[in-house]
Amino acid sequence: MAGVRVGKRIIGGDSPVTVGWENIPKVEGGPARKLFFTIFQPAALLALIAFWYYAPNSLATAKTAIIIGIGFKVLLIGMELLYPRHKSWQLTWKELCSDLFYIGLGYTLLSMVDVYIGSDAIIGWVQKSYDWDKLNWFTTLPLLVQALLISLIFDFGQYWMHRGMHNWHPLWLTHAPHHYITQLNINKGAVGNPVELFLIGLGIGGFFDFLPRAALLAGTFGLAIGTYQHINVRFNTPRWWRFLFNTTEHHSVHHSQDYEASRSNFGATWIIFDRIFGTCVDGEAEHLGMEGGRRMQIREAMVYPFTEGYATAKDWWRQRFDRPSAVPAE
Ligand SMILES: [Zn+2]
Repeated sequence: MAGVRVGKRIIGGDSPVTVGWENIPKVEGGPARKLFFTIFQPAALLALIAFWYYAPNSLATAKTAIIIGIGFKVLLIGMELLYPRHKSWQLTWKELCSDLFYIGLGYTLLSMVDVYIGSDAIIGWVQKSYDWDKLNWFTTLPLLVQALLISLIFDFGQYWMHRGMHNWHPLWLTHAPHHYITQLNINKGAVGNPVELFLIGLGIGGFFDFLPRAALLAGTFGLAIGTYQHINVRFNTPRWWRFLFNTTEHHSVHHSQDYEASRSNFGATWIIFDRIFGTCVDGEAEHLGMEGGRRMQIREAMVYPFTEGYATAKDWWRQRFDRPSAVPAE
């Protein structure tokens, strides 16, 4: 395969990747349908921002955020069923059951672990060991600016954590199972080894205790933008949106079977850090996964970092210390 040159790299050398927005298909059909898929994303984002901006204090709680989050995802799953982007990505019973397992695992296990050694413990420590009055300048900023800053700071951390996962073997072992998914849909963000979800989740709850409204607004950016990175629906996403934000197109390139393509688009909600640090590829891919699209079973995904870590350590040891004692003479 020839591939396409993007910067210094050849994208699509091992597996097909469509590079460039002008080469990506648009939504087909009548004018109403086209209009719907053009304005849906910005309209939903605006509506959610307006809600969190104007909601009374009694409504502006983390519980409301969770209910809205679930409702929004159910709506998007409905759209995936009616208007799939790729037929090959359509949900099967087998996919759904495995997705539900990971979602259940995420909600129970991770929320338990988080309380003890995750965000809450770290935030407690941070709150105690830092003079928060120094942050007064922050809380006097307009609410929307606070929310944008929280979202950008958090995404900046996610960008480097994710890029680190692709470049440092111990972290890669925790992230690799997520790259064995062979299709994208709304639930796929939850699929992976729990250790990874914990690393990515570190600090998510961070600002909840002391900046509730701004944090809830920042969370809305994640919901109304970041959720689309795994969606199986085609949108006529506006140009400004795909310049600023991560999209399912960007993320499908990241999940491509093509090795070079998978080393791009590390952002979660925003794509601008990829643009700034030179890892952005505007395009899309349909053939996803690792090892030519081998599906990783749940059991393997659960133990992968440990079994692979052990195998790597054993190889390393062998290469250095386990030299054969008697070398045959030549
Ligand atoms: Zn990745």
